[in-house]
Amino acid sequence: MTECVLTQERALSDYTSIVGEEAIQELRQLAKPLCGARVLHLNATAAGGGVAELLTALVPLMCDLGLNAEWRILQGADEFYKVTKAMHNGLQGMPLQLKPDMKETWLKYSSLNADLLGHNGIYDFVVVHDPQPAGVLWLLRQRNGHRNPGIWIWRCHLDLSTPRPDAWEFLKPYVGVYDAAIFSKRDYFQKDFQGPRCFEVPPGMDPLSTKNRLLDDEEVRSILLRYGIDPGRPFICKVSRFDPWKDFQGVIDIYDLLRREFPEVQLVLVGGGAGDDPEAWSCYQRTVAYAQGKGDIHILWGQSGVSSPELNAFQQAASVVVQKSIREGFGLVVAEALWKSRPVVASDVGGIALQISHRKTGYLVRSVNEWVEAITYLLQNSEASARLGRAGRDLVQERFLITRYLRDYLKIFRTLSGRVQR
Ligand code: UDP
Repeated sequence: MTECVLTQERALSDYTSIVGEEAIQELRQLAKPLCGARVLHLNATAAGGGVAELLTALVPLMCDLGLNAEWRILQGADEFYKVTKAMHNGLQGMPLQLKPDMKETWLKYSSLNADLLGHNGIYDFVVVHDPQPAGVLWLLRQRNGHRNPGIWIWRCHLDLSTPRPDAWEFLKPYVGVYDAAIFSKRDYFQKDFQGPRCFEVPPGMDPLSTKNRLLDDEEVRSILLRYGIDPGRPFICKVSRFDPWKDFQGVIDIYDLLRREFPEVQLVLVGGGAGDDPEAWSCYQRTVAYAQGKGDIHILWGQSGVSSPELNAFQQAASVVVQKSIREGFGLVVAEALWKSRPVVASDVGGIALQISHRKTGYLVRSVNEWVEAITYLLQNSEASARLGRAGRDLVQERFLITRYLRDYLKIFRTLSGRVQR
């Protein structure tokens, strides 16, 4: 059996005060014909990164609506995760070659996991997240000689705006056998991807998680002090997995330029790894080495990510939150910071651009000059920062909450099972 991830119960009714009774009733109505449906979410890790974050809320909320939802993770090992990270990098456009032995390794673990999954019985809906487990459906079909029962959905969280052709060509036949595919942004649909029905669904953040609930000032202050951050001085904050795509070194370069004008400003870099990411620790070490002698920089590491109350406090108290990414499927951290009414300056890439409307809900920037100008402006203009923060929170309220994400899944399940919305 694949390993089942236990999640804490969540009650949809708790969200009424945030989204209103009507939105909750709509979810209940949508879920009615799906009551009792067996749903499996399959991914590579139970901790670290946006997918685990989303499933932590989504799975128990589906259960609260009467679906029989479970979350399982693949069985893997270092050799497998090295390959899947290379696939991830290639799909996001990094020039590298997937060698035949790497493909073999991926197929070997896909086959093992297909066997394990075969013991779990039949599901009505199987949602397979990202490329790591994507091969299981094809291998089940090979083994059984027929199409596996249930509706199979490939949910891709990556930034597929510029995939390397060889990485996409390798994956395409395996994901081409799904009934449907969900991408965070329409731009990620691949022109040559035929077969599965494609849906555009950006993720949504959970306003009730420990990471996102409003903390009182005293709690925030005591967390900052505990980590050596001076609450009396401004700080710029970035939260991410330590991953080359998240460009920590680029953030340090910008801070290095800013501190000439703002010597009192601190930089707080918060992050960690994920169960399936073999690059995180070395990326963290490179970041620490790069930061040496470059000012008041605090780098905080947690094996599966820095834990929630701390992360919450850093985001809540930051003068400016930055998200400098080279590629970004969606960037749940941006939604989390906007929800906390923080002014956000972020790279104009991937899913970040869905969340930031330039100068309205944050700043979308490209060049180093634009980075420095935007942060300088916000450090000097508290009113503008507050205005952006309010608009950012309103945007998340309207479009990027977990309840909207849940609604989109329910609609897709109904559409695919023929029980189309009336
Ligand atoms: N996160 C965390 N601790 C960390 C770093 C990140 O809990 O030290 C969380 C973050 O709050 C967010 C998720 O991990 O919920 C990252 O999701 P995102 O979509 O931004 O990026 P991904 O890691 O999926 O590329």
